Amino acid sequence: MNLIGKVALITGASRGIGRACALKLAKLGADIAINCSKNKALAEEAANEIKNIGRKAIVIQADVSKQKEVELMVETTIKQLGSLDILINNAGITRDSLLLRMKEDDWIKVLETNLNSVFFTTKAASKYMIRKRQGRIINISSIIGIAGNIGQANYAASKAGIIGFSKSVAKELASRNVLVNVIAPGFIETDMTDALNKQQKEIILSSIPLKRYGKPEDVANLAAFLSSEESSYLTGQVIFVDGGMNM
Ligand code: NAD
Repeated sequence: MNLIGKVALITGASRGIGRACALKLAKLGADIAINCSKNKALAEEAANEIKNIGRKAIVIQADVSKQKEVELMVETTIKQLGSLDILINNAGITRDSLLLRMKEDDWIKVLETNLNSVFFTTKAASKYMIRKRQGRIINISSIIGIAGNIGQANYAASKAGIIGFSKSVAKELASRNVLVNVIAPGFIETDMTDALNKQQKEIILSSIPLKRYGKPEDVANLAAFLSSEESSYLTGQVIFVDGGMNM
């Protein structure tokens, strides 16, 4: 499996799952555009790591919930790296609260960041991929988008939205050889899940058949496969990386 000659744009790639995807794809030969929102220094660190393994890497600071910034980010990737073959929509946030306490802003911010962003990036990138008659779009949803979770109505709605969106776009773009798939992680050890307390983590662990939390690399391995020639007969799929939580 290799990605030599490919260019990937990964949103929210300065840390966590996005960063692991960036490194994995680079190790397989791809050049990488790392999107970050605030922490540019961390994104530059990831870019240097990629340059050290001999691939090109650029950092593009953009808020993916803003359409104009997304359009510029896609243009910059194509201009500076010469193509856009793989888009990984990874950026995401949580703003947990029980429904009756959930503020409108908690709802809007999560939907804007997690779902509107996927519409903006996919629209901008697919315009180019359709012309090239090839492309891979990988959207990071969550097991919560299927199962729901107490205190995460906003997050669950955004992640379920990604699934419906991806299946529709997969049908629209299949004839142009642009493949769209969804990864639904379970519990992956990152800054996002670090916010949970010990008791919450233990409850989650007891519900994982493989009896361990996932690592960002577990998700990155699947993202690499979905980016590669070896997955050329897969589109519109939702694949769980969850140690067996959802079965
Ligand atoms: P993380 O918080 O480390 O990473 C999220 C990234 O998104 C950060 O780099 C953040 O800066 C970026 N981001 C947030 N808002 C942005 C914006 N407006 N514009 C650009 N970038 C923005 O967490 P993670 O666990 O690595 O999460 C990555 C993705 O995986 C998210 O979509 C998350 O919902 C999803 N996910 C994570 C888990 C898990 O257990 N960690 C499980 C299921 C799904």
